[in-house]
Amino acid sequence: MRCPHCDTIFEAYHAGSVRANRCPQCHALLFKNNDVHFLSYDEAAQIADDNISVILNKRLYLCPNCSSVMEKNELGYHCPHCGGQLTSSGLLMADKKKRIEELQEERPGFTFGQLRGTVIVASVAMLFFVNYIILSRLSTRSTVNTEASSIVESVHVQRQNGGDILVLFTTQDSYRSKLLVEEQKQQTYFTISDTPQLAHMVSIPYNLREARMTIILIDQEGAEARSDTMSVQELLSAEGQ
Ligand SMILES: [Zn+2]
Ligand SMILES: [Zn+2]
Repeated sequence: MRCPHCDTIFEAYHAGSVRANRCPQCHALLFKNNDVHFLSYDEAAQIADDNISVILNKRLYLCPNCSSVMEKNELGYHCPHCGGQLTSSGLLMADKKKRIEELQEERPGFTFGQLRGTVIVASVAMLFFVNYIILSRLSTRSTVNTEASSIVESVHVQRQNGGDILVLFTTQDSYRSKLLVEEQKQQTYFTISDTPQLAHMVSIPYNLREARMTIILIDQEGAEARSDTMSVQELLSAEGQ
């Protein structure tokens, strides 16, 4: 495929999952299928890193991919037929910078720490909402007749801003629940919910991160079922914490 600016044969570059063509002569860049919009700032910088920016000043550019007449846009020239985008290092980086600035304007002073807090608050709110919706429809509650592991769903463990570890999980039916935390033969029980719930949440101190935990579900007759024992540390690392 040839560069529509200077007719030199393009060279292929990869950044993340995106493939780009760069002209070794004038350094024009060509992306296919609107891929340019999926590039992160860092990926774009890898492709545009030489800071040589072609000025796309020809009157007519034909798409090197499908030969359609390309249309001018803020990145250079765009092919309305195949989504190809002809651009330069300068135009590409200016566009990515602009997008980052737009995001920052939308959320001034936004930090990663706040994001974590927001995610936790949102997931807790969602759990309570789901609980409310489903409980309000349920009139009968089934008994615990299988091992708790098969009824416990999506166990999430998250470190909170304050340092404690938040344990969240859901169950297919409503149960009362508690958490058994064992560390070096020392057993601690944490009550999770005294009323039957579908969504369960409890906070345990961070110094119990090396402990093992077991979820205990209690049905309305008081029968208990236990989940498999899980390592708190392993669950934390599985969530990248
Ligand atoms: Zn070229
Ligand atoms: Zn095209």
